[in-house]
Amino acid sequence: MSSENIEICPVCQVKIKDDREVIFSTGQPGDRTKLWARVCQYVAGNKDGCINQDSDKIDKIKSTDGYKPVNF
Ligand SMILES: [Zn+2]
Repeated sequence: MSSENIEICPVCQVKIKDDREVIFSTGQPGDRTKLWARVCQYVAGNKDGCINQDSDKIDKIKSTDGYKPVNF
């Protein structure tokens, strides 16, 4: 299959395959929502150029999307 389209976010260094599937450097592949939950939301305010900023492609973040539990 040569039609595979892989983008690499210059900020997060994460690969997005076919505009959907996110390949993390470690762990299971996820989707754009998981990427946002785990990575992009933290860098978005600090750096420009993250390719995962399209709110149309990011669903509501569920507690399972971010691996790190947040304790208040
Ligand atoms: Zn990013």
